Amino acid sequence: MISILNYINGEFVKSSSGKTLQNLSPSDGQVYSELPRSSKADIDIAVKTAQNAFCSWSNTELNERAKLMLCIADLIEEDLENLAMAESIDNGKPLGLAKSVDIPRAASNFRFFAHALTQFNSESHENQGLNNINFTLRKAMGVVGCISPWNLPLYLLTWKIAPALAAGNCVVAKPSEVTPMTAYLLCKICKNAGLPKGVLNIVHGLGPEAGQALIEHPKVKAISFTGGTETGKRIASTAAPMFKKLSLELGGKNPNLIFADCDYEKMLTTTLRSSFANQGQICLCGSRVFVEQSIYETFKKDFVNRVKALKVGHPTKDNFDLGAVVSLEHLKKVTAYIEEAKTDKHMKILYGGNRMNLKKYPNGYYLEPCIIEVKNNKCNLNQQEIFGPVVSLMPFETEEEALGLANDSAYGLSATVWTQNLNRSMRLSQQLEAGIIWINTWLNRDLRTPFGGTKQSGVGREGGFEALRFFTEPKNICIDYN
Ligand code: NAD
Repeated sequence: MISILNYINGEFVKSSSGKTLQNLSPSDGQVYSELPRSSKADIDIAVKTAQNAFCSWSNTELNERAKLMLCIADLIEEDLENLAMAESIDNGKPLGLAKSVDIPRAASNFRFFAHALTQFNSESHENQGLNNINFTLRKAMGVVGCISPWNLPLYLLTWKIAPALAAGNCVVAKPSEVTPMTAYLLCKICKNAGLPKGVLNIVHGLGPEAGQALIEHPKVKAISFTGGTETGKRIASTAAPMFKKLSLELGGKNPNLIFADCDYEKMLTTTLRSSFANQGQICLCGSRVFVEQSIYETFKKDFVNRVKALKVGHPTKDNFDLGAVVSLEHLKKVTAYIEEAKTDKHMKILYGGNRMNLKKYPNGYYLEPCIIEVKNNKCNLNQQEIFGPVVSLMPFETEEEALGLANDSAYGLSATVWTQNLNRSMRLSQQLEAGIIWINTWLNRDLRTPFGGTKQSGVGREGGFEALRFFTEPKNICIDYN
C-alpha cells in the first residue's frame, strides 16, 4: 500500500488528525494507496507556511525563478515513464495517452510559464504637456489557492501552479481526492529541483473539508478552480463576499457541428477522438454531434463502424483506445443517462453503453463507448454534462438551425465546426456562444491563447499572460514631475 502524504513547508507529512482516505485504481476497483484526509487545521498550517515563504519568493530575481521552473519541467520529462504509469493507474486513462499528452503537457506548463514570466510586462501612460506619468506594477498577490479535478490530474494542476508561482505567489493546492498520486510525485520533483520550502504546498483531502477550508481562509487572496459547475457555484458563493479574486473553469456540453462540405476523413478521425478521448472525460470533448442532413446517414454508419472498432481494456496494458472510467460513482452517473435513453422513445442507442466485465479485472470500471441518436436537443442527454464515453447524434438542415442547436445550452466552453466554407466558418465563429472555437480541428492548444468558457462554463480565462494577469494585482503609480 502506497502512502500519499501532504507536502507542507518542504516536508512530507500526514494529516494532523492522522485520518486517511482510500484511493482505488479504476482498472481493477482495488484500493492501492491511501491519502491524508486533511482538515482546516492542515490548511491553516499550509497557508501560514506559504505566507512565511512569500516575501523571499516574490523578491526572487526573475531569472532565478525561471531557472527553478525550467528545472522542474526537465525533471518531469526525465520521470515521464513513472509519472505516466502513475497517472494511468490512478485515473484509468490509457498509458499511451498519459505518456503522449498528460505528462508532456505538465512539463510544458512549467516551461511555458518559466519563459512567460521573463516576457510579462505592464503599461505606462505618459501625459505629455501635463508632465505626469502613470505606470502600473503587477504585484504578486501573496498566498493563492489552486483546486483541480480528476480528469487530467497533473496536466490541470500544473496549469494552475505554474503561472501562480511564475507570478511570484506562494501556493496551497488541493488536488482531486479521486486522483492524488501525481500531485504527490510532483512534490518530490519540486523538492529535488530545490524549490524553496513553503513556496508550494499540496494538501490532500475532500472538497467540502480541505477544499472548503482553503476557499474560506482569509489569507488566501485568489482561488483558481477547475471542476464541476455546481462546485463552482458553491465556491463563488463563499469567495465572492470575501472579495477574493476567482477563476472558475467549469463544465461543458460542447457541440460538434459537421457540414456536408467538410474534409470527411479528417472530420471522422477527429470526431472519434473528440468524442471518446480519455473515455470522454475531457471538459472539451464534443458530446453533442450535429450533422448536416445530406450526410447524416453516411456519417452515422461510418461513425458507428469506427466506434465498434475501438478497443477498451486495462489502461496500462497493450495499446487500448479507452481505459476505465474514473470511479464507480462516476460509472453509475454515466450509465444512468444510458438507462434513461433505453426507455425514452425519442432516443435510440446506436452502439455500446454496456458495462464490460474484463475477465482478469471483473471489478474494473469499463464501459463500451456509446452513441445515442436523439430527436430533440432539450433532452437531459443533450442538456446535462455526462462527462463520459457517451455522445449524442442529431441531424440538422440549415446553418441557422445548427447554430440554434449549438447555442441552446446552459454551457459555453468550446465548439467545433467542420466545413470548408470560409465565410460560414467566420459567421459561426462570431455567433457561437463559447470561449473556444475550433474550425476543422479539435484540442489544438497553443498555451499563449486565452482558455476558458462563457455562460455556466466559467468565469475568467487561463493561459498565457491572462493567467499571469489573474495571479497578479495591478498597482498604478502616478508621478507628477512639474
Ligand atoms: P468537482 O467539482 O467534483 O471537484 C473538483 C475539485 O473541487 C476537487 O478537487 C474537489 O475535491 C474540489 N471540491 C469539491 N467541493 C469543494 C468545495 N466545497 N470547496 C472547495 N473545493 C471543492 O469536479 P470533478 O468531478 O473532480 O471534475 C469533473 C468536472 O470538472 C466536470 O464538470 C468537468 O467539465 C470539469 N472540468 C472543467 C475543465 C475546464 O477547463 N473548464 C477542465 C477539466 C474538468
